[in-house]
Amino acid sequence: MTPIKECPHCHSDWGVFIKSDLINVPTNYNFDGSRGYNGEMYDNAEKIIDKPTVYCQRCGKKICSWDNFCKRNGISPY
Ligand SMILES: [Zn+2]
Repeated sequence: MTPIKECPHCHSDWGVFIKSDLINVPTNYNFDGSRGYNGEMYDNAEKIIDKPTVYCQRCGKKICSWDNFCKRNGISPY
């Protein structure tokens, strides 16, 4: 597979960012470090973070999925 080295839209190599709706969703933990009850909002957020999208830092257009980006560039996804 060909690594992604630049934005396919504007050919910028500035870098990318990942947008995920999880950013503003709190994840609850207990004092002992275990996961607390996070309710339905958390369930939804967890589904979203499975498929974050990679965007171009320059033009802001969607490049590919995070999974695909990691595979192509040899990154271990978290
Ligand atoms: Zn771009």
